[in-house]
Parts: sequence; structure tokens; C-alpha cells
Amino acid sequence: MLNIRIEKTQAPKELPTKENPLKFGTIFTDHMFIMNYETGKGWHDARIVPYQPIALEPSAMVFHYGQEMFEGLKAYRADDGRTLLFRPNKNAERTNRTNRRICIPEIDENDYIDAIKALVKVDEAWVPTKPGTSLYIRPFIIATDPFLGVRPSDTYMFMIILSPVGAYYPEGLNPVKIWIEDDYVRAVKGGIGEAKTGGNYVASLKSQVKAHDAGYSQVLWLDGVHRKYIEEVGAMNIFFKINGTVVTPMLNGSILPGVTRDSVIQLCKNWGIPVEEKRISIDEIFEAYQNGTLEEVFGTGTAAVISPVGELRWEDHIMPVKTGEIGELSQKLYDTITGIQLGKLEDNNKWTVEVK
Ligand SMILES: *Cc1c(COP(=O)(O)O)cnc(C)c1O
Repeated sequence: MLNIRIEKTQAPKELPTKENPLKFGTIFTDHMFIMNYETGKGWHDARIVPYQPIALEPSAMVFHYGQEMFEGLKAYRADDGRTLLFRPNKNAERTNRTNRRICIPEIDENDYIDAIKALVKVDEAWVPTKPGTSLYIRPFIIATDPFLGVRPSDTYMFMIILSPVGAYYPEGLNPVKIWIEDDYVRAVKGGIGEAKTGGNYVASLKSQVKAHDAGYSQVLWLDGVHRKYIEEVGAMNIFFKINGTVVTPMLNGSILPGVTRDSVIQLCKNWGIPVEEKRISIDEIFEAYQNGTLEEVFGTGTAAVISPVGELRWEDHIMPVKTGEIGELSQKLYDTITGIQLGKLEDNNKWTVEVK
């Protein structure tokens, strides 16, 4: 059991007013969690303190070689007042998978979940209540050795910050336009694509800007070797419904294993909908579009849950997905997952964990 020292703020901030729509990731709560690591000593000094800037040496390794990882999950306010987390054990597991890949020491997964619960409990008043809102939880770890040589750091800071967020798409689940990137790549097999680390994001910025400038909201990534097989969309996993079957790229080493992805696969299986995790080429998608069997396309991730795709652009081909409206399965998945997260639907898979 993690022993967490708690120092409460003397100057609580005002809670965001109900009228303002909450913009994603702009407001932070009153407290943060910090724990340090040192080789020989392990993880130690777990504490919850007032949210504040941190002081680091300019030589801290994270600034130079990017040894850092992050996670993202949410706390939801149920109608009966309970605060619920969605599958936090998956984030704890994935943290250690990322840590192993980028040589950050592992964290006990129970301690990790206890730290999240303890911080959310301290700032529970910040869990927003309006439909579509939640408290976004951002755990992250940075390498802090003051050293310009290249090697894994001997010291780290694990922190958790919290941010109340509104609906990801305030205007509702409107399908988005996707640019299929065939020039730049996000990740390659053997690289760090399956680790949740900032390096993958910086690699993605250039084509995101390009896509935005062309009027597209996200980039769909193809594999780094053949520029042919579908990987992910923006910072989400991607699904297609083709002729009644749900398909998604199999985890191949360069794809991030999403918790929402896993939840969608399990729900489809429970519902008796055929699901296949396999290698999917862009030619297959284009062919399905041409012969009218491309029924639905959607991205999955914690922030938006389900993000319907209304149009794909690949080289000179523009592929509108059906009517441009959200598909029936996409809507059902969204309603089911958010219903479970909010404690409105039976949680048969035991996915939610109460913060008490
Ligand atoms: C976090 C992330 C996802 C989605 O994962 P969830 O656990 O469903 O939020 C997908 N792709 C990338 C690149 C990510 O970083």
C-alpha cells in the first residue's frame, strides 16, 4: 500500500463556471501527485501537493533525449454521485509496457491506481457533472538526471495532473474528414509506436499541420515500410465496418494498444458482430468504398470515445463514407461505452472502478 503524504492547498481556485464550455486540457485542478525515483532507492516520497510549477535543471535528460511517457484516462460523475474510473488497470499495465520500452523503471500497478484514486478523491469537487463532461487524468513520467550523455536516467519524476474537460466534440458526434498520409510516417515496427511517449507525437505534427491546412481534421497513418497498410488515425485507433464485419489493424508493434480499441472489440464480440484484427491495406478500403461495402469508419480513444469518419482522402481519391452521418454501430458503441462509464448501463465486464 502506497503511503501518500497530502498537503492541501491554502488557496483553492474557483471551480469552472457551469456556463463556460470547458475547453480540452486548459484548466487544471487544485492538486497534483508527485513521486520520485532514484536508482538504488526505488520509487519514493509519494505526495499530493498544490498544483504548481516544477523546478528542473536545464540539463535534465527529458529536455534533450525525450525519455518521457504519458497516459490518459478519465473520471466520470455517475448520476448517483459516485465517481467512476474506466479500466484504470489497463492504463497501469500500459504504463509499464511503455516504461519497459523506453527504459523507465516500472511502477507497482496497484500503487499507480491508488495514486490516481487518491488524487481524484482530493479534487473530487472538480469532476464536472454536465452531460459529456469528465475529469481528464494525465499521469506522466520524466527523466531528470542533469546529464547530457545518452543513457537511461537514474532519476525520474512521476506526476499526475487533472483537468476538467467538456465534450470532445461540443456540437455532437459529427463525422470528421481524414487525410490519408502517404509521405510522412508516425512510427515503424521496432520503433516506439506502441509506447505512449511524446516522441510519437512530435513525429506527427508536420502532417497534422498539412492536413489541417487542407481542411482535414486528422491524419490516417500508413505503415512506414510499404506505405500501404493502415495503422492509426491521429491519436486514435481506427475501425472499419465492411459488409457487416468490423475490422481493425492488428497490433503489430507500431500501433498503440488503445483501451477504447480493446473495449470496442469486446463489445462487438459480446453482440455477436464479426470482428477481425488483421493487416488492412488502403487498397482494400478503396475497393470497399468503390463497391459500396464500406459501411462505417470510426476512430477510438479516451478523449472522444468514438469519432465517426465522414470522408477519407487518399492521394486524389475522395471517399465519402456513406451519407456522412454517424453510422448505427458507431452510435451504439458510443452510447454503450459512455453509458457504462457514467454508471447508467449494467457493467457486465466490470470495467468501472469507484473512487472512494
Ligand atoms: C492514447 C492513444 C490511443 C488511444 O488509446 P486509449 O487507451 O483508447 O485512449 C491511440 N493511439 C495513440 C497514438 C495514442 O497515443
